[in-house]
Amino acid sequence: MKNSRRQFLILSAAGAASLALHNTVQAQALVSPSDPQALALGFVTDAAKADKAKFPQYTAGQHCGSCALYQGKAGSTNGPCVLFAEKHVPINGWCSGYTKKS
Ligand code: SF4
Repeated sequence: MKNSRRQFLILSAAGAASLALHNTVQAQALVSPSDPQALALGFVTDAAKADKAKFPQYTAGQHCGSCALYQGKAGSTNGPCVLFAEKHVPINGWCSGYTKKS
């Protein structure tokens, strides 16, 4: 009986840790430029590679880190974007939804 309780506690702790790790990994998934929404918005992981012919509004110096829709923490290399609710964007990325921070 005592062993059974101990095993239950160990398995419960392992399960909780596994769930927490899974949620962390999920939160850090990055937007792929080949995702349909990313393609539609001209998203690139390196702003310097933005398609300037297709998106003439792009100007040098624009990137996710200076966009009002970027919600990453200070000092992070990637973070959430209002336009891509499920995944993170890299701080040096860019898309046609770019809106300069005020
Ligand atoms: S809206 Fe802004 S933060 Fe989001 S992907 Fe486009 S440039 Fe980056």
